Amino acid sequence: MLFRPELSCFSAGKNLKTFILLALSAAALGLWVSGGFLFAGGRQAAGSADMAVSAAEVPETLAGQEEVPALPGEPAAPDGGDAGGVSLNSAPQEPDRFRMAAVPGSLRAGEPVTIGLAVPADAGGGESLPVYAVLVNGQGRRLGRAAFFALPGDPDGPAETAGKVLAAVLAVPSTLRPGEAFIRTEPPIEGLEDLPLTVMERDFVSETIELNEKNTDLRTGEDTKKTVEAEQLWAVLRRPGNTVYALEAFEAPVASTRRTSFFGDRRVYRYVDGSTDTAIHAGIDYGVPRGTEVRACASGKVVLARPRIVTGNSVVVEHLPGLYSLYYHLDTLAVAEGGLVEKGGLLGESGATGLATGPHLHWEIRVAGENADPDAFVERYILDKAAILSKLFEYKE
Ligand SMILES: [Zn+2]
Repeated sequence: MLFRPELSCFSAGKNLKTFILLALSAAALGLWVSGGFLFAGGRQAAGSADMAVSAAEVPETLAGQEEVPALPGEPAAPDGGDAGGVSLNSAPQEPDRFRMAAVPGSLRAGEPVTIGLAVPADAGGGESLPVYAVLVNGQGRRLGRAAFFALPGDPDGPAETAGKVLAAVLAVPSTLRPGEAFIRTEPPIEGLEDLPLTVMERDFVSETIELNEKNTDLRTGEDTKKTVEAEQLWAVLRRPGNTVYALEAFEAPVASTRRTSFFGDRRVYRYVDGSTDTAIHAGIDYGVPRGTEVRACASGKVVLARPRIVTGNSVVVEHLPGLYSLYYHLDTLAVAEGGLVEKGGLLGESGATGLATGPHLHWEIRVAGENADPDAFVERYILDKAAILSKLFEYKE
């Protein structure tokens, strides 16, 4: 029997059904009134339910990264107040009960997993609460949490599942050992079992990086501005969001295939005084010359574009609720915060700003705060509706 935390504020599945109905109805109303949908450029769903990540969410897995120093405390409360959804009433096919499925069912450490949650149409009546997908390891320890959002319907096809299928994206930490992990909802849904995931063996590269005086100082120096910048970045990355900007698989941000560091590299930094520190590389480094054009890996909204002490000129693009791509050490920035970018759109030119031992592009993807292997997003569209639906409805009791 796995540990399941008690949630005193929540009694049973009925209230959750109610929440989802209310949340989706409210969101649908907002979307109907504004005439928009959840795609790129979509509007905020007015007056919808709160799916904010609570301030109690401690970002353990961000600690010890190369470019993102661990925060001294908890992250600032994100904006919150936004959930997406479409009408529950428009669909001919009704999910018969709550169902949950994971795509894929087995994966390697560092890879993302998409969770689908089918909501029965008879949900109704009660107070509203946020719903999360939670990843736990075999011992029941929480590893990550992501808010569910409405899986967009097909604008050209029948809305058979519109508003009845929610999705959330999580990433298995690169430090997780092979074995079983589980997905569950918070709050728990009556009758919904923990969903098992198989985490497969994976080897990561080990490397030692010699830092000169400037880079030693960048990494070890006490600087309150560094802390402030880390908090700002965390506040961005923890925003759950409600908009689906990216509608297809990602592509690499540069044409070059020359990689100087890989996702999940186990790093040893050697400082000028001979002392060392260890870290895990959160992204992929492309060894490209200064001035190389860096392009958005998918459509999205620029949520950060500014110089930072450790990561140099940096861009962060939001693609899906809770899913962001990051580009570091740029020489120049070609975008501004708040703007929309298309897949392949120019973000800036590569360089060696911040903590860099030479010109390169650091490309990283964060999912619900966790760093995830960027290659996995190139190989398949993370919100592949057909894959999610077939997994949700393939099995019968
Ligand atoms: Zn890097």
